[in-house]
Amino acid sequence: MSDELFLTEKLKKGYQDFENLCRRCGSCCGAHDGDPCANLVRDGEDRYLCRVYDRRFGIQKTMSGKVFTCIDIRELIKEKQLRPECGYHIRGRVSHYL
Ligand code: SF4
Ligand code: SF4
Repeated sequence: MSDELFLTEKLKKGYQDFENLCRRCGSCCGAHDGDPCANLVRDGEDRYLCRVYDRRFGIQKTMSGKVFTCIDIRELIKEKQLRPECGYHIRGRVSHYL
């Protein structure tokens, strides 16, 4: 394997490892606050997904029409503003992804 391919694979794995820490609880998207993001959907296994995941950052609306800004979870990690139930809560597990 070339160095370039090795690095690409390593980055891909790092990204996936980071993504896998998400429990899909939907808390950071308002799933349990009474007025969730309009892009949030629940699957058949009680896990939540974002309908616009690849273009989620920026201005979005809740189900009632309230405007808010969707930001990268890394910002919430850095600002220590994660929900207690969030899978990224233990900073030691994710600091090398920030
Ligand atoms: S747009 Fe942002 S807040 Fe809305 S469901 Fe997607 S990730 Fe969650
Ligand atoms: S609160 Fe954390 S674990 Fe839950 S959906 Fe958001 S990022 Fe994932």
